[in-house]
Amino acid sequence: MIHKRIGILGGGISGIALAAHLGPDVDVLEKRSRIGGLCGAIIENGFTFDAAGPHIMFSKNKPVLQLMIDVLGDNVRQGRRENRIWFKGRLVKYPFENDLASLPKEDNFDCIYGYIVNPRANDTPANLADWSYMTFGAGISDKYFIPYNRKIWNYDPQKIGLEFVSRIPKPPMEDVLKSSIGIATEGYLHQLYFSYPIEGGFESIVHGFAKRVSGELHTNCRVVSVARDGQRWRVATDDGTERSYDTLVSTLPIHELLPIWDGAPVEAIEWAGRLRYNSLINLLIGCNEDRGYPYTAVYIPDPEIIFHRISFPKAFSERCVPEGSSSIMAEITTNEGDGIWEMSDDEILDRAIGDLAKTEFLDPARVVYRRAVRFLYGYPVYDLEYRSNVERMRKAVADTGLHLLGRFAQFDYINSDVCVERALALAETLSAA
Ligand SMILES: Cc1cc2nc3c(=O)[nH]c(=O)nc-3n(C[C@H](O)[C@H](O)[C@H](O)COP(=O)(O)OP(=O)(O)OC[C@H]3O[C@@H](n4cnc5c(N)ncnc54)[C@H](O)[C@@H]3O)c2cc1C
Repeated sequence: MIHKRIGILGGGISGIALAAHLGPDVDVLEKRSRIGGLCGAIIENGFTFDAAGPHIMFSKNKPVLQLMIDVLGDNVRQGRRENRIWFKGRLVKYPFENDLASLPKEDNFDCIYGYIVNPRANDTPANLADWSYMTFGAGISDKYFIPYNRKIWNYDPQKIGLEFVSRIPKPPMEDVLKSSIGIATEGYLHQLYFSYPIEGGFESIVHGFAKRVSGELHTNCRVVSVARDGQRWRVATDDGTERSYDTLVSTLPIHELLPIWDGAPVEAIEWAGRLRYNSLINLLIGCNEDRGYPYTAVYIPDPEIIFHRISFPKAFSERCVPEGSSSIMAEITTNEGDGIWEMSDDEILDRAIGDLAKTEFLDPARVVYRRAVRFLYGYPVYDLEYRSNVERMRKAVADTGLHLLGRFAQFDYINSDVCVERALALAETLSAA
């Protein structure tokens, strides 16, 4: 049996960034043929797509952001967010409350009236829907915030907790009033500028870290069982290899790890079973014309349209499309059993291309490339019991000595920058041990 000091399960950004900060006595075991996980790319027919949906580099943690930029060397550019919200055929600047003058007059009035005359302004919110009514009033909530969130979470906003929104700054009243009469303001500056790889999509960052790994990266290497073996961890992979490690770190989705973990703590199984997640389908569409859209992404609250967001890879890097072409990604949040997950790839592509034609974002006759990509684990859902469930799950796992790292291992709605930040912290702990 092969023995090493540290085994890392999963070759997404968490696993690779961790390995990049440890010595040579380390394995990374990744089931797919390429590293990247949710940061992965699909590069076909001259088009480059971020497989799970559009990714950009931004972070409140400046040293981490700088590290992610550094690993790209020269392969990085800066862009400016140009997001819009599609509302009754109009493109409203994001965030919605900063561009009310772009709405039809009646809708603008409803929004600003609901914002000023808001009987719930001093409520203490208990869920996402409450928070929206308290913060924005009825107009903005009913026309945009609630329908959009119902689509992206695929869940009732009244059953979603406040973990996520507590980080969103409340818009200054002055800005909302100005926006209603058409004086330009810029809300939510945090992600206004972003960095992105010139070539290879967001996945290039993971390859940048991979170049710094001195241990071994094994792709096409699915972990099929994990077990405690005295002071060590025994890991078997689908090629029949058995390995043992002094320390084990799993970046696998917790719902994937527990069924293959022989002797997994029953409390971890119990609490993980209560954690809700969303799957996603990302539709990749290439066209042989370029309409020159300057937008990065467009949010679609309309419940009749199947996707909740579309994005334009060329706005992230010109190299994402062949000369004279363009591409669109359309994202759908879904869950097994909701009827959408069960649709075939062709059915869902036909429906989405129809909706893109209806909203006038493309001409179906110009589509030269189409592909649907599915991720069972897309978004952890912060429902009302999330915090207590996740803390119990994590404690039960931590008590065994196994380390969890990353978005679906720790079951935390985190971006890649936080994955890297946590990888650095764990590398320091493991190196000191
Ligand atoms: C739609 C969307 C948009 C996003 N936008 C941004 C953004 O703009 N900016 C940003 O920074 N972040 C963004 N994120 C978040 C970012 O994608 C994640 O935080 C990050 O990719 C998580 O990385 P990870 O390594 O923790 O997990 P993962 O990427 O899920 O890695 C886990 C790895 O484990 C592997 N694996 C699973 N089972 C096994 C097994 N049995 N054996 C071996 N390997 C296995 C998987 O193949 C995968 O490679 C976005 C995420 C989504 C879904």
